Amino acid sequence: MLIVRKYGGTSVGSAARIAAVAGQVTELAGQGHQVAVVVSAMGDTTDRLLDLAREIAPTPDVRELDALLATGEMVSTALLAMALRARGQPARSWNALQLPIETSGFAGRARLERIGVAGLREDLARGLVPVVAGFQGRAANGDLTTIGRGGSDTTAVALAAAIGADECQILTDVDGVYTTDPRMVPQARRLERVSFEEMLELAGQGSRVLHLRSVECAARHGVRLRVLSSFTPGPGTLICREESTMEAPLVSGIAFNRDEAAITVADVPDRPGMAHALLAPIAAAGIEIDMIVVNAPRGGRVDLTFTVHRDDFRQALELCSAAATGCDGARVSGDPQVAKLAIVGSGMRSHAGVAATLFATLAALAINIRLVSTSEIKISVLVAEAELERAVRALHQAYGLD
Ligand code: ADP
Ligand code: ASP
Ligand code: MG
Repeated sequence: MLIVRKYGGTSVGSAARIAAVAGQVTELAGQGHQVAVVVSAMGDTTDRLLDLAREIAPTPDVRELDALLATGEMVSTALLAMALRARGQPARSWNALQLPIETSGFAGRARLERIGVAGLREDLARGLVPVVAGFQGRAANGDLTTIGRGGSDTTAVALAAAIGADECQILTDVDGVYTTDPRMVPQARRLERVSFEEMLELAGQGSRVLHLRSVECAARHGVRLRVLSSFTPGPGTLICREESTMEAPLVSGIAFNRDEAAITVADVPDRPGMAHALLAPIAAAGIEIDMIVVNAPRGGRVDLTFTVHRDDFRQALELCSAAATGCDGARVSGDPQVAKLAIVGSGMRSHAGVAATLFATLAALAINIRLVSTSEIKISVLVAEAELERAVRALHQAYGLD
């Protein structure tokens, strides 16, 4: 088989871990598989580099920040290639400028465009293990870029698609995708299989076990994707197309995200174009808006509430306040202490009463729901951050996931 294996930060967090990973990769290659490896930066390197940059400059230059952050992954590739060679397994490290991994778009959140695979194919044909730096890319002008936090998963899947790998394996510190984050709910269970659709919702709603764009990329290119532990052997979780023969579970999992912040514009005149006037400057600044709700008009006025990433809260609040001065009488307020949780399951399509259970469970805990948004297979609600953990635990039990 041709396998792309990605090892996350914890999995390559020390010299000992890198040696262990080299052992696993050598064993896999020894079984006759062709293996390409993608690695993240060691442990919390990316966070430490970010802190360092902010010590130097409160808002660091974006080009230099990308140049800095990209070094983390380069350290891991060189060390892992050395470790493999030391074991007698030929290997070679590759960074985004060498391959190249071409990207477009904003610094810090670049999009993958194309991966040059000639060098990789040559390595694979000669029995070398190529070790590729995740998370980074090369802009059209030759600058180093990064593709967004947690992005090495996406590098791995894009690489798997580019070389036509039989499977892309994401090796991490949990042995698969669980019904919810096992760090919060110890009763969480590993899922044998998850459909692409469900995984897209889980990742999109905050389960950081897989980067959202890696799941999108796998679904688009039909890449077989598996989540495995780098610490303990096991079957992990396969992310695959939904099987029509199987009865889909009502709720497969619960995702949550603490990085939300809510902004409310009250008493907006109920006229066409108001939402556009308020939100366009935020979009123009490259800030992603997540949930949006407009309530029913009273007295010719509406309230508009939306959420953004907490890091973007201050800027979004300023932009929105400036825009609101043009909407006579509109008042802007914000709350950065909110969190989102979402229940996800393909079975929701054909079952009634899923939402009722959610509302009943939260009502029994006297947890106030600030916003609701739904898709065919997901219901997400915004709650105060302080209530999140209680809510997730209770819902995990209410939907029989414990
Ligand atoms: P890596 O550094 O390997 O990319 P991450 O920290 O990004 O690892 O992702 C793994 C973590 O994702 C786990 O340690 C776990 O706490 C968290 N997680 C969140 N939701 C889930 C879930 N549904 N299933 C498994 N892990 C989850
Ligand atoms: N090192 C990067 C991060 O911490 C990318 C990754 O780990 O996937 O976000
Ligand atoms: Mg990750």
